[in-house]
Amino acid sequence: MAGPLDGQVAVVTGSSRGIGRACVMELARAGATVVVNYAANQPAANATLMDILKEGGSGIVVRADVSDPEQAKQLIDTAIESYDKVDILVNNAGINRDRTIARMSTDEWDTVIKTDLSSMFYCTAAAVPSMRERNYGRIINISSIIGQMGNVGQANYAAAKAGMIAFTKTAARELARNQITVNAVCPGFVETEMVGSLSDEVKAAVLANIPLGRFGTAEEIAAIVRFLCVEGGFFTGAQLSPNGGQYM
Ligand code: NAP
Repeated sequence: MAGPLDGQVAVVTGSSRGIGRACVMELARAGATVVVNYAANQPAANATLMDILKEGGSGIVVRADVSDPEQAKQLIDTAIESYDKVDILVNNAGINRDRTIARMSTDEWDTVIKTDLSSMFYCTAAAVPSMRERNYGRIINISSIIGQMGNVGQANYAAAKAGMIAFTKTAARELARNQITVNAVCPGFVETEMVGSLSDEVKAAVLANIPLGRFGTAEEIAAIVRFLCVEGGFFTGAQLSPNGGQYM
């Protein structure tokens, strides 16, 4: 597919569904060859790749639980074995296990930290050598409004997402000399299965606090990821906050 990202290779963690899926679709439309990653939902990952191929794009599906350091490295290694390099890494894979601090188990804490925060370190560390070889790279970390403002019942998720922002700023400083940019996208509430699982009561309460009066779409987040890859070369260490005005 001809486009501004022609010849570039993009890995998007957790891209079988939701925001990650919208990102691989958008990057493929811009010409990138994409690596679609999933942990459990193989049919969804295959359907995403099929949609990309139907539109004339190219890519592969790779199963890897990125909360595991070995599997995260294997994901990046597979991309490099298949396409010689990684130009774009979108650290998107994420889960939530919501519970107030008093009720949260150690397992609920650890699982969210490993999946949402540590996976970003594993994948970034594995991808950076390939980016350094070419003095080029775009690393985009999908954080959250919750990492900026905190939220009742989400201490594990908020800590992971705030950690992503601090990691982004540090990595941006470390990697700037290699022309590798590192940015965080911090969406507000976006209509995906993650938000679909909230009760109608909670959804109504959230909507009441969004000045624009609606949830975002996965496509709106993917458009920002594309922007950072195509036109956004002077952004690094930044937080882009598509949130309908919920947090200013
Ligand atoms: P989603 O619809 O639940 O999709 C999650 C994706 O992550 C799936 O592709 C899933 O793969 C993958 N995944 C989960 N654990 C994984 C693991 N250990 N290894 C590899 N892949 C894994 O979620 P979403 O709403 O699109 O959220 C995507 C990201 O945006 C998350 O980091 C989330 O925190 C962030 N975010 C979401 C919102 C929102 O309102 N939706 C707002 C702010 C930030 P399988 O299909 O195999 O399960």
